[in-house]
Amino acid sequence: MRRLLVAANWKMNGSKESNALLLNAFKAGFDGSADTAIFPPAVYVPQLSEELAGTSIAYGIQNAHFEKSGAFTGELSMDMAKDFGCQYVLVGHSERREIFGETDADVAKKVAAILAAGLIPMLCIGETLEQRESGITEQVCEQQVGAVLEKVGIAAFEKIVIAYEPVWAIGTGKTATPEQAQDVHAFIRAYLAKSDQAVADKTRILYGGSVKAASAGALFGQPDIDGGLVGGASLIADEFVAICNATQ
Ligand code: PGA
Repeated sequence: MRRLLVAANWKMNGSKESNALLLNAFKAGFDGSADTAIFPPAVYVPQLSEELAGTSIAYGIQNAHFEKSGAFTGELSMDMAKDFGCQYVLVGHSERREIFGETDADVAKKVAAILAAGLIPMLCIGETLEQRESGITEQVCEQQVGAVLEKVGIAAFEKIVIAYEPVWAIGTGKTATPEQAQDVHAFIRAYLAKSDQAVADKTRILYGGSVKAASAGALFGQPDIDGGLVGGASLIADEFVAICNATQ
């Protein structure tokens, strides 16, 4: 009942030329078995809007400010993203949290602003290696989701997409096993179900962290894994096409 979704997080990579090559390969290769979305660096959004016109491939930006406009040099608003046809905004990625100091409160404000603009938040959460080793993975995920739940309410989770990305698996080549990921996904869904079972059943929870074509099928086959958020492998055309088509 939950349609699978596979998203590409290009991070700070690409050029007009390399983007065009990837987009052409995606358009030719996707078999339509999953929803797909691409998060390029924001300056390339007009290129995606042009090259993806008439396709079902969605796109969005990797970050934006929670205010609507004003004296925030270097920032972008949700409405600006919407103006260029974005459907999604990535929020709370661990690189934003770790490198740029975003707090749970910032993330919650951004999720509220994304929803207010009529866009879909893709909310990233996940524990560090240290947190996993100390046995607090579930508490960390609960706290990160809980901060957003408190701000926007459970009904919003019909729209919000959660991306569970263990920080130790991002860009390291160490994918969580399908069972490790499934356990955390089931925990997150059960946590949402405490507020509303029907909403929890509808919330899409993606896995992210070194997803490759070789690991995608087993991950996406887990009952509570509804697709993936893919970094490094989304910059390799054949890999990303194979990941998107690995969903059944
Ligand atoms: P990765 O990145 O696939 O390169 O591990 C995932 C992400 O950061 O979203």
